[in-house]
Amino acid sequence: MTAVVVIVGRPNVGKSTLFNRLTNSDRALVDDQPGVTRDRIAGEIRHGQQRCLLVDTGGLGHAAAEDPALAERVTAHSLQAVHEADLVLWLVDGRTGPTVEEQELAGQLRPLGERLRLVVNKTEGTDSELACAEFYQLGVGEPLAVSAQRGSGIPRLLDTLFSTLPAADSAAADADRPGELSIAVLGRPNAGKSTLINRLLGEERMLTFDRPGTTRDSIDAQLERDGRRYTLIDTAGVRRRSQVSEALEKISVIRTLKAIDSADLVILVVDAHTGITEQDAHLLGMAVDRGKAIIIAINKWDGLGPDQRQQVQAQLDQRLVFADYARVHFISALHGSGVGEMFASAAHIGELFDMPLNTALLTSCMERALEAHQPPLVRGRRIKLRYAHLGGRRPLRVIVHGNQVEHLPHHYKRYLARSLREQLQLEGMPLLLEFKQGE
Ligand code: GDP
Ligand code: GDP
Repeated sequence: MTAVVVIVGRPNVGKSTLFNRLTNSDRALVDDQPGVTRDRIAGEIRHGQQRCLLVDTGGLGHAAAEDPALAERVTAHSLQAVHEADLVLWLVDGRTGPTVEEQELAGQLRPLGERLRLVVNKTEGTDSELACAEFYQLGVGEPLAVSAQRGSGIPRLLDTLFSTLPAADSAAADADRPGELSIAVLGRPNAGKSTLINRLLGEERMLTFDRPGTTRDSIDAQLERDGRRYTLIDTAGVRRRSQVSEALEKISVIRTLKAIDSADLVILVVDAHTGITEQDAHLLGMAVDRGKAIIIAINKWDGLGPDQRQQVQAQLDQRLVFADYARVHFISALHGSGVGEMFASAAHIGELFDMPLNTALLTSCMERALEAHQPPLVRGRRIKLRYAHLGGRRPLRVIVHGNQVEHLPHHYKRYLARSLREQLQLEGMPLLLEFKQGE
C-alpha cells in the first residue's frame, strides 16, 4: 500500500507552503472548480519512479473547524494521523527558534523515532547550519534546513523522505489490471457498509477467490462475477469487527486514505436518514482528488417516506457539485433492493477501465468537441489542439497536445473534459485532462 507522510507543526511555520511545494505537479485536475473551496488534506508526492501521499494535519483541523462538534477532536485527530503515518515531518520556523510548545511537543513526538524528521523552514538567506543549531535541543535527531517558499533544501528532503519510507510504491504501479476492479466501501459508522458487503459476498452467483500473493491475514474480500475479479478493500475494519470491536468505529483518516488510494472505485454508503454529512463530503473530496470512480449508495431507502426522499434528492444536488460525475443509487442493503443495479454500475465501471482507447478515437472525440465549440482566441490567434492520447488508465488520463495550451481558459478545459466524458459515456468515472505544448 501507498506510504503516507504527515506534516505537523504549529500555525504559521509554513506547513501549507511546504505541502504545495512537495505535491507540486504538472497534473491539472480539470474537474477542479474555482469557487468551490473544500479541504484538500492529501496530495501526492512524486519523485522519480517513487510516490507517496502527503497529509497536512492543518487540513484536518480546517475540516473539523466547520463542524463545532468535531473541533474538539481536532488534536486527537491529528495525533491519530501522526501515529498511523509511515513518516512524520515536523516543521518548525528557523527564524524564531524552538518555542515552549515545541519543547512539549518534542516529548510527544520523540517516541516516533526513525519515523520522525525535524524540518527547519524559512532558512533562505541565513546560514542553515546556524538556523538548525538551536533545534538540536529538541532531541529528535538531526534537523533538515529548507525554504518551502524558495525551494532550497527540498531535493535533499525528498531524498531523505523516500529513503526512509518502507518500500514506497513505484509510480509504475498505476499499471493496467484488465479484468480487475478494486472497490473501497466507505461511509460513516452505521451507514450500512457491513450489511452491503455481506450482501455482495453472499450473492450466490459470486464466487470468492484466492488471489495469488494475498497474505493470510489480509481481510480484503475477493470475489468473481461474470469473468471479472473484484477486490473489496477493507476500510474501517468492517469485516474485522467481530474480533476487534468499538475501537474501530472511529474513522481513521490515514487508513481511509490508503484504502481510497488503492481502489479504482469508491462506493460511499450514506444513511438516507442522516443524509450527506460533512464527513461524507470529506470522504468524497478525497476520492475526487485521487481521481477515483465513485458510486454513492443512498442506503436504508426502504424506511423513507416520499417527503424524506425528496429532501435527500435536493440535498444530493446541492452537495455533489464537486463530485458531479458520481453515480447515485438508492438501495436497501438490508432487503437487497437496488443492490443489483448498483453492482451492475460497478461492473460497467470495471469495463470502462478496460475499454480500448486509442489515439485515433480520442483525437476524433476531441475534434468533435472542437467543432462544436472552438477554443478562444489569444491575442488574435486561435489556440490549436492537435491530438489526444491516453496517458493512463487508473485513473483515466488523456493528454492533449497543442499550441499555446497554457492560455486555455479553465472553463474551456472543463468543457473539453465534459464533452469527452459524454462521448465516451464514462458514467461514474472521472477523466483527467493534461495539456502539453507542441508535438
Ligand atoms: P501554516 O500555517 O503552517 O500552514 O503556514 P503557511 O504555509 O500558511 O505559511 C505561513 C507564512 O509563512 C506565510 O506567510 C508564508 O508565506 C510564510 N512562509 C512559508 N514558507 C516560508 C519560507 O520558506 N520562507 C519565508 N520567509 N516565509 C515562508
Ligand atoms: P456499518 O457500520 O456501516 O458497517 O453499518 P451496518 O452494516 O453494521 O448497519 C448498521 C445498522 O443499519 C444495522 O442495524 C443494519 O441492520 C441497519 N441497516 C443496514 N442497511 C439497512 C437498510 O438498507 N435498511 C434498514 N432499514 N436498515 C439497514
